[in-house]
Amino acid sequence: MSHVFPRHCHAAIPTAVGGDGCYLIDADGKRYFDGSGGAAVSCLGHSNARVKQAIKDQVDKLAFAHTGFFTSEPAEALADLLIDHAPEGIDRVYFVSGGSEAVEAAIKLARQYHVERGEPQRRHVIARRQSYHGNTLGALAAGGNAWRQAQFAPLLIEVSHIAPCYEYAERGEAESLADYGQRVADELEAEIQRLGEDSVMAFLAEPVVGATLGAVPAVEGYFTRIREICDRYGVLLILDEVMCGMGRTGHLFACEAEGVRPDILCIAKGLGAGYQPVGAMLCSKDIYQAISDGSGFFQHGHTYVGHPIAAAAGLAVVQEMLEQGLVAQVRQRGAHLEAQLRSALGQHPHVGDIRGRGLFWGVELVADRATKQPFAQKHGLAGKLKKAAFAEGLICYPMPGTRDGKIGDHVLLAPPFISSEAELDSVVDMLGRAIDKVLDGVP
Ligand code: PLP
Repeated sequence: MSHVFPRHCHAAIPTAVGGDGCYLIDADGKRYFDGSGGAAVSCLGHSNARVKQAIKDQVDKLAFAHTGFFTSEPAEALADLLIDHAPEGIDRVYFVSGGSEAVEAAIKLARQYHVERGEPQRRHVIARRQSYHGNTLGALAAGGNAWRQAQFAPLLIEVSHIAPCYEYAERGEAESLADYGQRVADELEAEIQRLGEDSVMAFLAEPVVGATLGAVPAVEGYFTRIREICDRYGVLLILDEVMCGMGRTGHLFACEAEGVRPDILCIAKGLGAGYQPVGAMLCSKDIYQAISDGSGFFQHGHTYVGHPIAAAAGLAVVQEMLEQGLVAQVRQRGAHLEAQLRSALGQHPHVGDIRGRGLFWGVELVADRATKQPFAQKHGLAGKLKKAAFAEGLICYPMPGTRDGKIGDHVLLAPPFISSEAELDSVVDMLGRAIDKVLDGVP
């Protein structure tokens, strides 16, 4: 009997024993193409020699030194490298062990920034409906998933939610993309005014929404408008690139595509690429300076902040991406994947939308393409699709739609940046077969 506490208490799952390039191998020797990297983690595949060697070398040199006493060579080098490539104005890196920790740190930093500048009344966060920012209590409160939060209410911070920028489902027929983007961005201004012009500390959003909507980029101009509104009201813009950052969308930082400068940026998953649990919160010079000139102490911290082995892995991951030209490769392979998805599934009677950027794609299933009506949640399509794809040998990331019937089941693809075109073709084949198999049983 296993003593591991699994998420799904009654599900029997295979034991993973090996990783080879884009594949995971179970104890029976079955190979699975990792088409989602778990959830957009394994961007370099599972056997990258450089990252493995960097970890081994670091273990031999120094495993741990608490950041209350020391910094470390890999943490310094990784911070320098990230800042060299980060959006303008971003100047400091605070390392953490994962995405939820990055978001927690971001929210606390935003709050402390306002308190230290003499605006303690700024304690409200605005985020978006149907968003996911992590599972710790603060990050969970910030997310816009009622079903994830229900059992844990009341949550810890004051958060309200505006609409996501999700044009497939929510743009009016006669509305242009630009008008739609402006309308939903303007919800931020209306919400700030409703709450009180000087009571909001931060707006939090993913540049490309991952798990909850399935690789949905905002329409052009949306984030420019959001930035203007944040500036107008002294609200910090926190971008959560935990899933969509680190090259996944064809830019090292996803917000580069929007041409927008955040105040705080959260990264994780692809930074460690699965080789080590590592994430980071990056912030602007102004924020750092305010704390430095004020108390001089960020009131936060976990034991493993800036862990040398995690930092060494992150450093090797980013060096590998940059030196091997993998971010450009994401754009090229992403265009191939998009073309294959559109050709295989674009006319499928139950595929409503195919959207994404780089090697980050979502396919939304609908009962009716014309009305965009999702399938009823009672069919449990997402769960069935996960199983059917897994049986085909494909790991993908299906998500159920919402119970209010506004958002349909969708599947997220986030294959490794090293995937060949032939491997991506076979991902599309396996996904297509899994979709057909699952829909076969739906009336
Ligand atoms: N933010 C986003 C956008 C995510 O997709 C996730 C995880 O899926 C998180 C935060 C939380 O990251 P972690 O699971 O590493 O805590």
